[in-house]
Amino acid sequence: MTQKPLCPKINLSTFNFSFLLLALILGLEGCKSTTRIVADENEVWDTLAVEEEDFWIGVDTPPYQPTATRSIDVLHMDLDLRFDWKNQQVIGKAKLRLTPYFYPQKIVVLDAQDFEFGKVARIQNGQLEALSYRYDEQQIQIYLPEEAAVGDTVELEVNYIAFPDRNTGDGSTAITDTKGLYFIDPLDSIPAKPTMLWTQGETQHSSKWFPTIDQPNERLTHDIWLTVPDSMVSISNGRLLEQESLGNGLRKDHWKMDLPHAPYLVAIAVGDFAKVTASHGDLSLGYYVEKGFEKGAARVFESTPQMIGYFENTLGVPFPWQKYDQIIVRDFVSGAMENTTASIFMEELLLDEREALDSEWDYIIAHELFHQWFGDLVTAESWSNLTLNEAFANYSEYLWNAHRYGQDHADLKLVVEKEGYFAEAEAEPKELIRFNYADAEDLFDAHSYNKGGLVLHMLRRQLGDAAFFKGLNLYLNQHAFQAVEAHDLRLAMERVSGQDLNPFFNQWFFAKGHPELAIEVDYSLPENLLLRFSQVQDLNEFPIFQLPITLSWYEGKIRKTKTVHLTQAEQEIALENGNPISLIYVNEGQEILMKGNQVLSNAQYLQQFKESQLGVARYAALDSLVSREAMEELKEVLPMTLSDSFEAIRERGLSVLQADEQWKEDLDSLEEQVYRLAEEDPNNKVRAGALEVLTEWNPSGYRGAFTRLARDPSYLVAGAALMGLVRLSDPVVDLSWMEAFESETNFRMSVGLAEYYLVNKVQGKGPWFEQTFSKLAGEGLYYFMGYYGSYFMEVEGSEKERAIRRLFSVLEFNSKDYLRLGAFQTLLGFVMEAGVLDKMTALAEKEKSEELKSYYAYYLEMLKEEN
Ligand SMILES: [Zn+2]
Repeated sequence: MTQKPLCPKINLSTFNFSFLLLALILGLEGCKSTTRIVADENEVWDTLAVEEEDFWIGVDTPPYQPTATRSIDVLHMDLDLRFDWKNQQVIGKAKLRLTPYFYPQKIVVLDAQDFEFGKVARIQNGQLEALSYRYDEQQIQIYLPEEAAVGDTVELEVNYIAFPDRNTGDGSTAITDTKGLYFIDPLDSIPAKPTMLWTQGETQHSSKWFPTIDQPNERLTHDIWLTVPDSMVSISNGRLLEQESLGNGLRKDHWKMDLPHAPYLVAIAVGDFAKVTASHGDLSLGYYVEKGFEKGAARVFESTPQMIGYFENTLGVPFPWQKYDQIIVRDFVSGAMENTTASIFMEELLLDEREALDSEWDYIIAHELFHQWFGDLVTAESWSNLTLNEAFANYSEYLWNAHRYGQDHADLKLVVEKEGYFAEAEAEPKELIRFNYADAEDLFDAHSYNKGGLVLHMLRRQLGDAAFFKGLNLYLNQHAFQAVEAHDLRLAMERVSGQDLNPFFNQWFFAKGHPELAIEVDYSLPENLLLRFSQVQDLNEFPIFQLPITLSWYEGKIRKTKTVHLTQAEQEIALENGNPISLIYVNEGQEILMKGNQVLSNAQYLQQFKESQLGVARYAALDSLVSREAMEELKEVLPMTLSDSFEAIRERGLSVLQADEQWKEDLDSLEEQVYRLAEEDPNNKVRAGALEVLTEWNPSGYRGAFTRLARDPSYLVAGAALMGLVRLSDPVVDLSWMEAFESETNFRMSVGLAEYYLVNKVQGKGPWFEQTFSKLAGEGLYYFMGYYGSYFMEVEGSEKERAIRRLFSVLEFNSKDYLRLGAFQTLLGFVMEAGVLDKMTALAEKEKSEELKSYYAYYLEMLKEEN
């Protein structure tokens, strides 16, 4: 699974608006640590934002969570489903073929949450024999007529109605991620919202719609029959075998999954989807999207075949399943989910063809795809071992980034992952494999994901590529279609490499924390440096780490390296080199998960920027100089950033130039170069960043360029150019020229237009604001909302009441935390209107997110004190 983002991914520098504040607030939890270092905002989406609160703040240790005992093995399921869309019910008949796992069994216990049962029977020689059972709303205990022994198979038929909506909160919050099966706009009552249904099984929510043993160490094959409206398509695991018209506007689709997988990976989606087809060799690929988005989907998912080929080559294991579909749905409860052969994605990936030019969703596509091997083919036996799924999926993003976008890009992404982990570990360091937890959902955090990925990377560096990937190959082949725990991975790596990996696994998988190194370098004899390393982490809580660490230095253009092994709390290392070394780098590529407190001077950072061949090290040097406000050094560095080969550095350099007026005076000679980047850079983010600098420095000098680039194919570029036009000191673009953009549906354009209407107090644009508001969703809506609020607050003659009602409906019903927060923030502007403050107070009470709730309370308290 990929976590749902808390933080929007937008380039904040594009928007100088009160929403910057909002972003900062949002950043408190998920994005804080990344605001300084992030080159690519998109990167933070995946896993840094940890949506779930960790509710376990007790003094007691949470309970030990054993791997589920296997009493009964479900071998196969025949599942026949119909849907009552009106009442949001699932009418099901499940035939289960089971066998005792080892010990004889008299009772079959199945997970079945919030069901009502019809007949429960045994099938014996084609005859149904009713069985007695007990049911407690969570599990059904079915009493077999006689004891079943190992090797016996028992066939049961269970008729039921499932009620996904039951027991999922009080309805007022409208947020729930435990329904298992979700009806979206089931009565088609919401304009512009398609009717569909989809499922989300992880962690244990599949038993909200079919009876099963809802544990990751269970595995079954299945046939699923879905009765759906003729107008809709269905998608499920495995292959579509046949479709039968039922004549009454309904159709029955038969999906067959003949390879065993875990119940939480069973999935269906039904809706009026268009299918874009592709292939990788004999493997057929489908991208399912709402109609009208086919061309965008073809572009968003276009790397899929290449990715599959790359992962197959890297692992030496062919894609293990029958086909691979990727489905974009509405209102998804997570970022994406790796259901076997049928990954489901959130609607943020729903882009039109032009938007898809700037798509940066490869990482999430890689993540779910890699899960088809790690997670689906080989499955963590319990949620305690979740990192065996998520570490690999997380690390696949690095692998794909390095392969497709280059080493620098991948390395910087790894640093972002690391920062996400540090933010979480500072608050609460945890073991990567955690047997004690309160709620399985707590495991989906920056430890299981980010730290897991980083640990795999260090394992790879320690073993070398050949051993690491051969070890993965062995692990996959040995454990295909099985559940695993961490030691299975260790043993495979040991078998291949011949190394004892207990120390590595003990310190990284089973202990908490990471090394914190104090590093001192004695340069008094430059040919013979003396390095002192102290592990300064709290040794009562964390281990002394065994750490291979790379030292590097430059002799002219030649990069030299030496790996040393830290094993003690205090260690001195002498580095003899024939030639003097002016600056030694420890962990220059930032590949080791550690905090290194090596204090460099500004001059040394300048040297690092100038000489390092690693983009990530140049980026870090630039970053450090910026945070130190080292103006003299930056004056030298910033011009170099603009021609750096690493696009993240060009982009960062531009954002620095744009952020401080001082640079306009000191470095205005760069203007021509910035302009060339705006026109010619191969990276659209860099082009947009350059336009933003020109907007700050000399907007009227680029009126022609802005006007032309406002029609650039890239929305990133066009949006930035439009904003440049809006910022011209003489409001000269005439109204009708601007109005031509009213039909644009991309928020980057809408925001530029909104700013124009707001700044120039253009009356009568209320209907356009209303219309645009209802068309936007997600991140786009988030940024638009502030303009929307300001317009109705500030521009005369606009319909304030309707705007307030609309904002309240977001605050009350929207499923995304950051959008509810956005609505709250915007409504703060209306508190002088009658009833607004009272209603905000009432809704704040009902808020489900503890984090938002306390934030609301803080502001409401302040407001009440003021009044
Ligand atoms: Zn995942």
